[in-house]
Amino acid sequence: MSYTALYRKFRPDNFADVKGQDHIVTTLTNQIKHNRIGHAYLFCGTRGTGKTTVAKILAKAVNCEHPVDGSPCNECAMCKAIQAGTAMNVIEIDAASNNGVDNIREIREEVSYRPTEGKYKVYIIDEVHMLSTGAFNALLKTLEEPPSYVIFILATTEAHKIPITILSRCQRYDFHRITIDTIASRLEELLNIEGVEAEEKAVRYVAKAGDGSMRDALSLLDQCIAFYLGQTLTYDKVLEVLGAVDTEVFSKLLRRVIQGDVTGSIHILEELIVGGRELGQFVGDFTWYMRNLLLVKTSEEPEEAIDVSSENMKLLKEESTMLDVETLMRYIRIFSDLSNQIRYAAQKRVLVEIALIKLCRPAMETNLDSVLDRLRVLEQRIDERPVQQVIVQSSGEKRPDISGDNPENHQAAPAKAAPEDLQKIVAGWRTIIGQTTGMFKQMLQKSVPKYNGETGESVLYVEFQDFLGQTYVDNPEAVKELQDIIAAQTGKSVEIQMLVANKHQHTNLAQVSVDQAIRENIHMDIVTEEDPDEIE
Ligand SMILES: [Zn+2]
Repeated sequence: MSYTALYRKFRPDNFADVKGQDHIVTTLTNQIKHNRIGHAYLFCGTRGTGKTTVAKILAKAVNCEHPVDGSPCNECAMCKAIQAGTAMNVIEIDAASNNGVDNIREIREEVSYRPTEGKYKVYIIDEVHMLSTGAFNALLKTLEEPPSYVIFILATTEAHKIPITILSRCQRYDFHRITIDTIASRLEELLNIEGVEAEEKAVRYVAKAGDGSMRDALSLLDQCIAFYLGQTLTYDKVLEVLGAVDTEVFSKLLRRVIQGDVTGSIHILEELIVGGRELGQFVGDFTWYMRNLLLVKTSEEPEEAIDVSSENMKLLKEESTMLDVETLMRYIRIFSDLSNQIRYAAQKRVLVEIALIKLCRPAMETNLDSVLDRLRVLEQRIDERPVQQVIVQSSGEKRPDISGDNPENHQAAPAKAAPEDLQKIVAGWRTIIGQTTGMFKQMLQKSVPKYNGETGESVLYVEFQDFLGQTYVDNPEAVKELQDIIAAQTGKSVEIQMLVANKHQHTNLAQVSVDQAIRENIHMDIVTEEDPDEIE
């Protein structure tokens, strides 16, 4: 038994079955009902949104012997002939391959003859923007004085390429991209008719992958059904067939990118390629992932705005605190540029790699967004500086940032050195932070470990530089987590107080400088046994 592709089998043959273009269907059926049919129509919109389908239904409706409520009856001889493509009075022309003056002149000669059957001669010119200038001029002449029995339906994906002289003579209809909901419910309907079981999540993924095009969604669904004939269509199977990537991988990749980890990001890409994933699909899906993230970040009720599982929502919310809107917009811009370039590129992989490197290394770009992202990276480095500063300092002498001679300047001139316990902790600060996770880690990376320079008491003040650190202030669990890690790392139990920079009253806090001796005793940030004789 031969198999008919879904999109052919279920191509709408009347206006009622056309999905997602209600505004157009209503206008056209009204025109037919009231016999106010135009002579030139321009149908614009992306591929697979139903332009030629509607054109054919319109051709039938105007010629139908017994139209029903503005729709063709699909029963009469005219409807059947047009449906079968044998009617002489409905002429379909693909302008992509017939774009010359001569092709249009032929039409001009033909239109002078009345139709031998039916009421109207209907010319459907697909991809009309492909016509040459000469052909457009020839077409214009016909459009200026069309015989009463002729209708032109021009269809295009690129309305901006149509000369204004043509536009001004047409009724223009803009076909919308079809929403995921509309496509998904149509797919459900057809799967029911076909007797194929499918998970809702699987159907939604296919609908989303159609990217506003019913035809694309149907061909994708076809592929999936053909691959797993007779089986229930699951989400995993759909991902497999379409060469798509599970959302979890996007989360992993994005986190690498935020950390500026080029090697890690490229490694994830490598795994995807080895796993046989399709790169064009991947780029589109990752862009979509970041778009969702942007919605989570900017919307009051992200659950309403985006369509993801609760576990993915948790990841998205966590990630939304890791980067700012400008950076995210930059990422999205780079990836949507990429999705345009990649379609016809031979070296898809190289292009994706370059894009990932651009995300990780804003310094490679010179526009405003990337400069903002560079600032973000620099700020982060400045926040981390106290630890790095220690490394370049020389031994036990007076520290450059402390001017002990000036007793009045308490903030800048703490009299006492930080207790040696704290120095040890700070010397191993990065290793300690490295053992925390999630947002706490992000906040700690933007924190400065301090102590009270006046009293020299053995309390570690963790000063968050980001106001979001407020979550951890007076949070006993966070304190305990950090204390446990410090205890395991240094063998010290220390009192910890967390606060947010510029939002606390402690004016005597100073950065902890680490003596050379202590630092030398701590190799590679790993604290060895305490030996008090060595420090003095
Ligand atoms: Zn009919």
